[in-house]
Amino acid sequence: MSSAPTLSPSAFELDDDHRSFQEVCRTFVARECAPRVREAEKAGTFPAELWPAMAAAGLLGVGHPEEYGGTGGGVLALAILSEELAHASGGLAITPLVSSYMAGPHLARYGNEEQKERWLRPLLEGKCAAAIAVTEPGAGSDVAGLAARATAVGGGYQLRGTKMFITNAGLADVIIVAAKTDSDAGHRGITTFLVERGAEGMTLSPPLEKLGWHASDTREVAFEECFVAEDGILGERGRGFHQIMEAFQVERISLAGMALGLGQAALDEAVAHAKERRTFGTTLSKHQTIRHRLAAASAELESARALTYQAAARWDSGHPEAATTTAMAKLVAPRVASRVVDEALQVFGGYGFIEETPVAMHYRDARILRIGGGTDEVQLEILSKRMGL
Ligand SMILES: Cc1cc2nc3c(=O)[nH]c(=O)nc-3n(C[C@H](O)[C@H](O)[C@H](O)COP(=O)(O)OP(=O)(O)OC[C@H]3O[C@@H](n4cnc5c(N)ncnc54)[C@H](O)[C@@H]3O)c2cc1C
Repeated sequence: MSSAPTLSPSAFELDDDHRSFQEVCRTFVARECAPRVREAEKAGTFPAELWPAMAAAGLLGVGHPEEYGGTGGGVLALAILSEELAHASGGLAITPLVSSYMAGPHLARYGNEEQKERWLRPLLEGKCAAAIAVTEPGAGSDVAGLAARATAVGGGYQLRGTKMFITNAGLADVIIVAAKTDSDAGHRGITTFLVERGAEGMTLSPPLEKLGWHASDTREVAFEECFVAEDGILGERGRGFHQIMEAFQVERISLAGMALGLGQAALDEAVAHAKERRTFGTTLSKHQTIRHRLAAASAELESARALTYQAAARWDSGHPEAATTTAMAKLVAPRVASRVVDEALQVFGGYGFIEETPVAMHYRDARILRIGGGTDEVQLEILSKRMGL
């Protein structure tokens, strides 16, 4: 667990509430998640028994409205939760994080009373799961360029189009789908819809085989004359782009938090290994080149953590530059994690390449964090615009 950092104390001072929440997350992850990782990675599925367990521990409702079962806390608490879950496994972490914190905020912010009762409450109780489907085969970074269409028909809309790389698609009870209701209005023509599992006209591909995140379910989802009633519109017609961009902010914090968790886990493993493994008559840690590598990794992770926590805290305090700091954190933390897992694997030598060591899994799982939720390049675009470039 990240309770065994190589350097302490943390550069970002958590207050008592956040520190105790961190402890709750750590205890839960150590007891409930870590022992299930290998099996989940092999089976390619999230362990179903974790849904009610997470709900009971208050880990599905962070930052959500209390009247629907939210459990308090804000964006900093979510960063901490994401970090702790990913310390066990990125693939295991991403399933509840998508459901509660990447799809869930759309329901909480834009859902009407009935939609929140129907979907948000059971989501926070761990009784149903959600997915968010924006990306398409022809449009990922360029969200405004999506091609799925929702055509008005009697009593609702007919969806046509294909969504790509949709996390949780195979297990979601409800999928939030972005489609154009007005094809000539550019990003102002996008609306989001709630599509229930098993809806006629919706087909799921088999799970996509991925480099990492093996415990998570990712699929292509196709819509062919899929009818959604008028009350399936989530939020305002034509405001989907705005809604997606707003929800991206929390998603990016969560992904940056995940980078910290799996980076720290890989580093902790590498430090322990370096203290044990002997070469040329001494332990690896006594070779200066090895211990300097680990020390540098620790410093880089700590600066990424301070930046990520700061970005999260800025959302909680309503800071005007929260979005800028978030773009920085989403850029920096996954890049740092990618370097750290690589260094950690190197310290393990051949053992790092073998599935027995969790480092191999963290190495694979780090890579997607530079792509999902807005790539490095998308964050750099946001930041360069802020710089007036
Ligand atoms: C495992 C996994 C899970 C995912 N889960 C979901 C999900 O649940 N829901 C969902 O909607 N999506 C999901 N995605 C999709 C993910 O968000 C997209 O892959 C990501 O946004 C990038 O889009 P793309 O793959 O189409 O790449 P592209 O947009 O085609 O980009 C390709 C490359 O070009 C770069 N690039 C693009 N435009 C520019 C530019 N203007 N300047 C410089 N560089 C540029 C990109 O940064 C990237 O490096 C998931 C993806 C994966 C792999």
